[in-house]
Amino acid sequence: MRATVMEIRDLYLRFPLGRSPSDFVTGRPGRVVNALNGVSLDLIRGETLGVVGESGCGKSTLARCIVRLYEPSEGEIRFDGHNVFDAERRADRAYNRRVQMMFQDPYSSLNPRMTTGQILAEALRVHEMRPEADIPARVAELLELVRLPQDAQHKLPHEFSGGQRQRIAIARALAVEPEVLIADELVSALDVSVQAQVVNLLLELQDNLGLTILFVAHDLRLVRHVSNRVAVIYLGRIVEIGDSETLFSAPSHPYSQALLSAAPSLNPDDRGRAVKLEGELPSPLNMPSGCPFHVRCPHATDVCRSTLPALNPFQDRGEVACHHVEEINAHV
Ligand code: SF4
Repeated sequence: MRATVMEIRDLYLRFPLGRSPSDFVTGRPGRVVNALNGVSLDLIRGETLGVVGESGCGKSTLARCIVRLYEPSEGEIRFDGHNVFDAERRADRAYNRRVQMMFQDPYSSLNPRMTTGQILAEALRVHEMRPEADIPARVAELLELVRLPQDAQHKLPHEFSGGQRQRIAIARALAVEPEVLIADELVSALDVSVQAQVVNLLLELQDNLGLTILFVAHDLRLVRHVSNRVAVIYLGRIVEIGDSETLFSAPSHPYSQALLSAAPSLNPDDRGRAVKLEGELPSPLNMPSGCPFHVRCPHATDVCRSTLPALNPFQDRGEVACHHVEEINAHV
């Protein structure tokens, strides 16, 4: 049976903006950036869940909410049966240890004045992972785990390449023995050949250590390669979620279809039936009514303009939020 490690329910995040002079003159309330608009999903133990969408769709915001860098305006993240934003859970450092985030640019999150050995030892000390006497051996073990040479522990972050720095960031995350890793554009800044090495290392570690990974990336090919399931986000809402191979070979939501066909290398056979993604992503300051995709969707009707579609199971192809999913996929 599939065990759920984390449940995210109806997550909303709004960033209020200050009132502009014209807001004061007209008596308008200040505007609000609607960054997340009711995200719900389960993270299954041991899986890699890919999160995709155009830039600005809310995928990184979701990642930051999960590690409590942002507090949601509404909704819950349940881990071990508790909402991690409850007052008594806020002080719970165990969650910070068990759910670790890795960023695109490890250089800014690694202290430039500390050697790799000091960085790893500090992580072990802060969370009291080992007695002091055992720390050097554990540092050596961590370097081996991420395939860095032992002399790496005496070097500073700037002495490494981008790929090696990401390995240090992975080792630091693993030092505290997490259950969930949140990888936010982990390899986006690296060369393609180095990306593959880092991602394959991550997958191997996941297998060996039983990790659960939320993999946020804009590179669809990479997401397809690493993910068991994929969630497609549009304007802070999940519009489709399902098994990775099914979703990539036969996306059901019009937005997923357009997003994936904008990357033709994913499926060369599909070039003939590419769906064009028209128009710009609307501003999260001014959310469209009804289905947020209706202003760009070639299938939009009146109901789409007035009523928000719920995320519902569709055949055996996962869950889709679209009023007309049956008709749109009738001939696929
Ligand atoms: Fe398009 Fe309507 Fe489906 Fe939204 S609900 S994706 S507008 S068909």
